[in-house]
Amino acid sequence: MIIKPSIRSNVFTNAHPLGCRANLEKQMNELDTLPPFNGPKNVLIIGGSSGYGLASRIALAFKGGSNTINVSFESGPKGKRTGTAGWWNNHYFNALTKDLPTSHKDFIGDAFSKAMKEEVIEYIKATLGKIDLVIYSLASGGRKNEETGEIVRSSIKTIGEKVEGKTIDIVNKTVESLTIDEATNEEINDTVYVMGGDDWQQWIETLRDNALVNKGFKTISYTYIGGPTTEKIYRKGTLGKAKEDLELKAKQMNEWLSKDFNGEALISSSKAVVTKASVFIPQMPIYVAALFDVMMKKNLHETIVQHKYRLFKDMVYGENRIIDEEGRIRLDHLEMQEEVQTETVALMGAINDQTLFDLKGTHQFFEDFYQIHGFNFESIDYEEDLDLEKLASE
Ligand code: NAD
Repeated sequence: MIIKPSIRSNVFTNAHPLGCRANLEKQMNELDTLPPFNGPKNVLIIGGSSGYGLASRIALAFKGGSNTINVSFESGPKGKRTGTAGWWNNHYFNALTKDLPTSHKDFIGDAFSKAMKEEVIEYIKATLGKIDLVIYSLASGGRKNEETGEIVRSSIKTIGEKVEGKTIDIVNKTVESLTIDEATNEEINDTVYVMGGDDWQQWIETLRDNALVNKGFKTISYTYIGGPTTEKIYRKGTLGKAKEDLELKAKQMNEWLSKDFNGEALISSSKAVVTKASVFIPQMPIYVAALFDVMMKKNLHETIVQHKYRLFKDMVYGENRIIDEEGRIRLDHLEMQEEVQTETVALMGAINDQTLFDLKGTHQFFEDFYQIHGFNFESIDYEEDLDLEKLASE
């Protein structure tokens, strides 16, 4: 199969296997010159096949000396389908870690389900014994309620008022205006059910009830706060409500984790990066492009894996934790610097729907988006006819 990028409504419908491997190697190379650190021994990552979960897995496996278990919802190649980028990321992560002294295991399926939790629990009992760190990094549009059988959907909407926003149409390289509708109460509750902290808490309680939580255990999930240009759509919208719930659940878990295990439940506010989930959020692409431009000029730009490496080395397992009044780790402190925010807002005001595409930051945004699906790597021959079944079995 010859694989060319296929994108619909800013969502990739395919992925290039060899490019996905190149993307993993690129992230490994970005860590190359950075020193190792004393990471946790056994790590469970919920949502470790792409984006922040994958970057966390790479940083911990290659620099923290961790064993990793990853639960993700991905599909492999079948017929005319290439398989998802996350599926190939898992596949090649295993190949690229095979010479490490640590072990790495993938579970493919629905992390929200009881059955998946039981399967993972059995595996941990039979292999690693106890867990030292759980990273909860899910981004999902839906969650099955196992009691009613209903699929509950999350929505990206505003609260209290309609908002006019803009986004980048990635295929046509144009800026599109859009209206983001106000959510109903049901839509707010549904988004909290899908993207809030309930399932995270269930994972941690299930581990505790099976005596798999080690002394000094930590768990962390990723929130986003952001600045004035994304606030109505993100932080003050349905997703923000879900994040408030996630942050509340961290506080609740922290109480018993600290008492019973000398452990902690953490929230890290992470910076805006290009992932399959973030590109989908209106306003975010233009903000990210402008932000990247400002941060690159100021030499403050970090790649996704460098960001997560710094989180674990300095702020979770190191002595350089920056926290805010809510107790959240502010890994996003560079993005949130007043000067960076002011310049980003000014740049967004100064560019128009054409000049946006001339920015270095916008080029970086496009490059990241294509590369996380395995495209736009110079080292790859995109005319090559690939045998996906063979690649999947290697
Ligand atoms: P992503 O889409 O790249 O990754 C999502 C992961 O969730 C994938 O591994 C996917 O397989 C997994 N997943 C989704 N549904 C699943 C299911 N039912 N069962 C098992 N696995 C499932 O997204 P991301 O942007 O890396 O987001 C991860 C977290 O980071 C989210 O909580 C997000 O809000 C947060 N965050 C993201 C940004 C950003 O800019 N991307 C910034 C701050 C915080």
